Amino acid sequence: MGTDRRLLMIPGPIEFEPDVLNAMSRKTDSHVSPDFIALFGSCLRRLRDVFRAPDGQPFVVAGSGTTAMEMAAANVVEPGDAVLVVSTGYFGERNARLLARHGAEVEVVEAPPGDVPPLDTVEAALKRRAFKAMFVTHVDTSTGVRADAEALAKLARAHGVLSVFDGVCATAGEVFEQTAWDADIYLTASQKALGVPPGLAIVMARPRALEAWRQRTHPVRSYAVDWEEWLPIMEAYEEGRPSYFATPPVNLIYALDVSLRYILEEGMEAVWARHARVARAFQAAWRALGLRMLPVRPEIAAHTLSAVYYPEGVDASVLARIAEEGVIVAGGLHPQLKAQYFRVGHMGRVRPADVLATVGAIERAFRAVGADVPLGAGVQAAQIALAEELQ
Ligand code: PMP
Repeated sequence: MGTDRRLLMIPGPIEFEPDVLNAMSRKTDSHVSPDFIALFGSCLRRLRDVFRAPDGQPFVVAGSGTTAMEMAAANVVEPGDAVLVVSTGYFGERNARLLARHGAEVEVVEAPPGDVPPLDTVEAALKRRAFKAMFVTHVDTSTGVRADAEALAKLARAHGVLSVFDGVCATAGEVFEQTAWDADIYLTASQKALGVPPGLAIVMARPRALEAWRQRTHPVRSYAVDWEEWLPIMEAYEEGRPSYFATPPVNLIYALDVSLRYILEEGMEAVWARHARVARAFQAAWRALGLRMLPVRPEIAAHTLSAVYYPEGVDASVLARIAEEGVIVAGGLHPQLKAQYFRVGHMGRVRPADVLATVGAIERAFRAVGADVPLGAGVQAAQIALAEELQ
């Protein structure tokens, strides 16, 4: 078997840069060697630039996005705390389940799939009850919907409620100004717009979140993600001292170092703008093909993925055909609708050529299974969108 040259265009894991992958094949250092300590410390500092959180405390541990969600919930929430979950799909539901497991009294505000709960509804909930925290999914990967993180963070602050944002499908792909917006926790994982293979759970906690943790009266219910254990370790790495609680995924940190260099050399504004540009090209293609997106309004459609209904007469069996045409995309995930739509991830260093290849493969596959789509119309629309943006 040779190298698989099919493009991986799912909403994570994404296509990783060869340099990032190569970094992982280095000999594994001791996790307390001076070189590794310096490298890890530098990654932690640079994450503050990616999250726009100069006053944030980064935590980077082995795990996935769910681990990061667990770290936030476990450390912030105590049994009996009232917590508001703003749900826009599958991962909002996950937040609710996870918080309940940590003893929270969870209230959920949600919208029909493809929409976001109106800010008024969220505000009414915040007025009704004294919540300790509000958990929001920045981009719900099941619907491709982006919540208005800035407005929600400010609303939470105005009501004296901690705000926690799940940025697993958003961080480094969607604008997020953690400190300027006064969001207390922004969490993510490595395998999406951060461009590092799966295995890193990343949480950025600002002072109010840490203060809420310090004021706890119950121990954190999860030993493996307890800030009591991790805070001294993260501080030690930044201060250049050896320390140990649980072995860090050394080779993934090498990869993170390379990927952060790419992201910060390009600059956050440029990275965000590039994601928006790629998203607009995909959205132009869907329109030209007569395909409807799950997000009910263009302004709430994520820049990091597209969730698109199948055309008449097409079902999830077309995914295998799209893969045969050279591109791997994902099926639906929202429990109510999952058979009716597919998802295309467009995070990380997606090239214009990747956009055209993806739309082209989808067009050919739809045609092959008998759908009435205008062959070439999506590619042309994407091409025009990409070219216009270059002018
Ligand atoms: N939140 C969101 C928004 C996600 O997209 C995902 C993963 N698709 C997760 C949480 C969970 O992350 P993981 O699969 O890495 O545990």
